[in-house]
Amino acid sequence: MTETGTSELQGLHARIRACTLCGLHATRTNAVPGTGPVPSEIMIVGEAPGFNEDMQGHPFVGAAGKLLDTLLGQIGLSRQQVFITNVLKCRPPQNRDPMPNEAEACLPYLRMQFALVRPKAILILGRHALERMLPGVGGISRVHGQIFMRSGIAFMPCYHPAAALHNGGLLADLQRDFDRVREYLDQLLKPAPVAEPEASAVAPPSEPEPEQLSLI
Ligand code: URA
Repeated sequence: MTETGTSELQGLHARIRACTLCGLHATRTNAVPGTGPVPSEIMIVGEAPGFNEDMQGHPFVGAAGKLLDTLLGQIGLSRQQVFITNVLKCRPPQNRDPMPNEAEACLPYLRMQFALVRPKAILILGRHALERMLPGVGGISRVHGQIFMRSGIAFMPCYHPAAALHNGGLLADLQRDFDRVREYLDQLLKPAPVAEPEASAVAPPSEPEPEQLSLI
C-alpha cells in the first residue's frame, strides 16, 4: 500500500462522506465510500449501499456481503485483498433502483477511486453497475462470466450476490463467474514466458480495442 495513495484516498472518502451533490444525502445515515488497499489488483463494484451498509458506513456488510466473502474465499481471496465500492455511495430510500441523476452525480467519485486503486481486474456486480460501467454490451444474464478488456483492464460482469440470494438458481452461475475471475487472475499473474523471436514474428495482429469505457 502506498502512503500517498492511501492519504489521497482518505481525502477523497472524506469528500464523499460530506457530499451533497444529489438528494440521497438527505436520507442517508452514512455515505459508504468503499474499503480496501490502494493500489489493489482487484476492484469490486456493486450497485448501492443497502440498510446495513448505510448504518455502518461500509460496503457489503449485510447478507449479500457474507455471500461475497464466501465467493471470494472459494477462489482464494479475502476482503482485505480487494477494493470494494459501489456506483452509488449513498443508500436510495427503501433500496429503490438508482436514478440516472444520482449515478451521474456519483460517477466522478468512482472514476477517482479507479485512478487511485489502479486495478487490473474489475468485478461488476449486477445489472445496475453493468449499465453504468459497460453501457451497451448487453444484459447481465447474457454477459455475466465474460471478460471485456478496456485499456488493458479486465472488466468482468457477474450476477449480484443479492440476486443469487433471491433466486438460488443463480448461485451456480455466480460461482462459475468467480471461477472465471480466478482463472483470469492466474493467467495474469503467471510469469511471462521468454519470448522467442520467431513466435512474435508470426503472432496474429492484436484485436483493436473496443470503444472507450465510460468509466475511464
Ligand atoms: N448491495 C450492493 O450493491 N452494495 C452493497 O454495498 C451492499 C449490497
